[in-house]
Amino acid sequence: MNLNFDDRITGDYHSASQVARVMTERWALENMYCPRCGNIHIEHFENNRPVADFFCPVCKNQYELKSKNGSLGRKVNDGAYETMIERITSNQNPDFLFMSYSKSELKVKNLIIVPKYFFVPDIIEKRNPLKSSARRFGWVGCNILIDKIPEQGRISVISDGIILDKNTVVNKISKSGLLEVKDVKTRGWLFDVLNCVNEIPNDIFTLYDMYGFEEKLHIKHEQNNNIKAKIRQQLQFLRDKGFIEFLGNGRYKKI
Ligand SMILES: [Zn+2]
Repeated sequence: MNLNFDDRITGDYHSASQVARVMTERWALENMYCPRCGNIHIEHFENNRPVADFFCPVCKNQYELKSKNGSLGRKVNDGAYETMIERITSNQNPDFLFMSYSKSELKVKNLIIVPKYFFVPDIIEKRNPLKSSARRFGWVGCNILIDKIPEQGRISVISDGIILDKNTVVNKISKSGLLEVKDVKTRGWLFDVLNCVNEIPNDIFTLYDMYGFEEKLHIKHEQNNNIKAKIRQQLQFLRDKGFIEFLGNGRYKKI
């Protein structure tokens, strides 16, 4: 894997965003392996396909690439809000590759993959409608709030310019598949509770620690009046899937 962009291909493009798109897509085509099955390369779909940018010729998994100059930050711009919500609720999303690059060095800095089953409506922020001066007046876009995705769903391929071991990446994605839940509402609960577990700094924690998040979770799920039961249910799921261990007496350990 080579982290440098090929800037010889940008001659025919004039807008900065077009140049960036062409360079980053070309980079992925020439350097990115399939993080699902480990196949040595991924392929590009025909232009303007609405859902995904790339696919793996072996396992057929699909990917969408979002890139930005500078640091990845907390959020990344995406397309129409309603379309995104629709894609998430109908399980039509591809896996996402989020890239940050240096425009001055023409180099990839960070690349993370977020598997499709980590997308919930909660991580999609509605942007303000475009102003009357805009060509697409009233159009509503969205931001993907990367920092709201549990860390188990943000798998680094390149971190601060360092290429991580491919087998480790493939194994991490494979393990994250244990958290796949088809129903979006259930998925929301799972990740809300998982984010709480991740927030606890120690590896060993108690049910009592988890109940400390009751109020916070209640604000998000106002209609639910038995948050404690929901917490216990999700902890059981995480235990069954091998992400935490039950030590007895209301004590748990992160694995
Ligand atoms: Zn593959």
